[in-house]
Amino acid sequence: MQFDLLIKGGRLIDPASGLDAQRDLAIVDGRIAAIDAEIPFERAARVIDATGSIVAPGLIDLHSHVYWGGTSLGVDADRLAAKSGTTTFIDAGSAGAGNFLGFRRHVIERSKVRILAYVNISFAGIFGFSQTVAVGECSDLRLCEPRETVAAAREHADVVVGVKVRSGRHAGGTSGIAPVDLALEAADKAGLPLMAHIDEPPPGRSEVLPRLRKGDILTHCFRPFPNAPVFASGAVRPDMRLARERGVIFDIGHGMGSFDFEVAKAMLSEGLAPDVISSDVHLYCVDGPAFDILVCMSKLLALGMPLVEVLRAATQRPAEAIARPDLGRLAIGVVGDVAVLRLRPGHFTFVDSVGASLVAEQRLVSAGIVVGGTWWPNEAVDDLGETERFEAHAHDTHVEVASRHFGHSHY
Ligand SMILES: [Zn+2]
Repeated sequence: MQFDLLIKGGRLIDPASGLDAQRDLAIVDGRIAAIDAEIPFERAARVIDATGSIVAPGLIDLHSHVYWGGTSLGVDADRLAAKSGTTTFIDAGSAGAGNFLGFRRHVIERSKVRILAYVNISFAGIFGFSQTVAVGECSDLRLCEPRETVAAAREHADVVVGVKVRSGRHAGGTSGIAPVDLALEAADKAGLPLMAHIDEPPPGRSEVLPRLRKGDILTHCFRPFPNAPVFASGAVRPDMRLARERGVIFDIGHGMGSFDFEVAKAMLSEGLAPDVISSDVHLYCVDGPAFDILVCMSKLLALGMPLVEVLRAATQRPAEAIARPDLGRLAIGVVGDVAVLRLRPGHFTFVDSVGASLVAEQRLVSAGIVVGGTWWPNEAVDDLGETERFEAHAHDTHVEVASRHFGHSHY
């Protein structure tokens, strides 16, 4: 067989199968066609030299905001993809039933990178979010309409992976737990998982967690006080253990204000590693503190999570959470989505959502990605410094024309 693309000489790590060895990987017609110790150069139209690199499944960012231009918080997924090793962005409820079609037509269908989405229980999606405007989409319950949500999920079933709800003082005002119950009813009717965001109470995590079913997702799982998953002593709150036993998925969702190193240390030390590492990247955290999924993964690596588990939490686990076994792994016949990563040694300072820092001697960088069989290099990989401080920079408004590549669409 003649291959379209051959990735040669890399350390192939596929958490789903447990493979961690030097392997060549070949792709034909957008699917993985061969994984072998040695595949000759002559058999491929294009060869990527991955010597010294990690060849992993394309990263899946389970919590991102990429409704660029249609919502104030959206970032351009195509601009972020190769740089962050991300081949699938899952938008976490930027759009609701009322504006999902625009998201689909103007962003999802025109993006080079793969985009899937949770549909927000709020009809308007996340419509009032900036550094100066904060009107939570669940603060008026008239917007939380399960019938509309189910109809949108069915109409866009090829790209919708679940229902999203944001409850809490910021996102839900005085609505309390009601948005969560409405979203659960919609998720049940649509036969989809729920991703539940928590922020400052009410509702507290102890009201939200017992409602979540096996396969539902708690995002912002390592958030700081108040509503942190650990007591001040560092002991894990019992409802977190019960939820883990029941099969609720713990997702990082770093974002602007939702990741605390001390909380993460406490959770990891008690054996409660996150199931999924996601960035919650949006316009107000893409310049820090979250940056992208790769920076978030580097933070968990620095906190002591083993490399293979860090990769699993950004490939196999999110693929399972969205029930897409054709993504998030490297096996014959699955979608040809690959991340070519490097462990860059140096001196790096990471900063969390409460301003605490953590020094690390290595971080993950992306040399490029393969989306549906097409190689997409990170042009900047060799310019990355060996000393860097990952803290939030003052946000400068990005007024830029999104890079658009017509004629590509991957679901
Ligand atoms: Zn979010």
